[in-house]
Amino acid sequence: MDKAALASALGAPSGFGQSQFALTRGNAFEARVKADGGAELLRLVHARLDPGAEPPAGAAVPDLSAHGPEGRTARTALALREAVAAGGWTLLDHPMLALDVAGSLAFLEPDAVVVHPDGSWTVVEIKSFPMLDGSADPAKVGAAARQAAVYVLALEEVAARLGAQPEPAGAPARESAPAPRVRHRVLLVCPKDFSNLATASAVDVRKQRAVTARQLARLTRVEEIADALPEGVCFAPDRPAEELTAAVGAVPATYAPECLSACELAFHCRERSRAADAVARLGRPLRAELGGLTTVEDVLAAARGESGDPDDPAVAALRRAASLRAEALATAGRAVAPCP
Ligand code: SF4
Repeated sequence: MDKAALASALGAPSGFGQSQFALTRGNAFEARVKADGGAELLRLVHARLDPGAEPPAGAAVPDLSAHGPEGRTARTALALREAVAAGGWTLLDHPMLALDVAGSLAFLEPDAVVVHPDGSWTVVEIKSFPMLDGSADPAKVGAAARQAAVYVLALEEVAARLGAQPEPAGAPARESAPAPRVRHRVLLVCPKDFSNLATASAVDVRKQRAVTARQLARLTRVEEIADALPEGVCFAPDRPAEELTAAVGAVPATYAPECLSACELAFHCRERSRAADAVARLGRPLRAELGGLTTVEDVLAAARGESGDPDDPAVAALRRAASLRAEALATAGRAVAPCP
């Protein structure tokens, strides 16, 4: 479902995504990097990742247009196959890849994929945050690396399929071809020192790739999630807000501040979490420390000694903190008391 549209229909539009200004600036930078058949982008790939290969002059830039995401995915796979067979450099501008996520196909569109003369493939991510003196904001680089790792996994599925495919009819017989290699170092392209010039850095995404692969393998399948929903629940954004609120409320959710940077429904879930007085909205580490105390009122009552098992370490720590606080306030009160 379109979670951004659902959030708006619920009356809690997401503050997600980039501003129009940032989008325009990002698009202009990407267009500049890919101008002239991607000459600058290919120069950076060559310099940072494959300096021993022949220079990427006259690289192929195949047309990847096709009808619908499935058509574009098939067109991309064909272009990759042709590029490997042709040798030399090929730039795939906005290819489309498909990845199985919990039993449902997700379509992904990297900024670019470059095929090297040795037949290996590199994911390229073009970002508009600056790279200052060769390094960029680590949080933004980390997010770009996690994004690129998903593309690497999707490309590996394409490579595995190509490696398993028979040669076209009429082609000379050969040993079974190995699957093309998807490089685990991706290229991150950014503006250099706030200028319009491009600079790039090779980012090793092996760790992010392994983490994402594990997470994907552990995901509950979409059908199982759908089976657990009450009969007739529907998230179509054109439904009345009350109906949608009830539908979203039928799905268990545990809001945490991290949701604000990761999910379009964050403002809606934050309001629900506030209304439920849940401690989870104060952060996952705190929730973990409070154990069975799930609401702010439970926590305050335990601290005041009105409820809770005194042998529970969380309850004992809260009571100790409350008594220290009372002691500190009493001391402070004496310190500021007027002289007799
Ligand atoms: S709990 Fe967080 S991740 Fe789940 S739907 Fe709400 S905002 Fe999104």
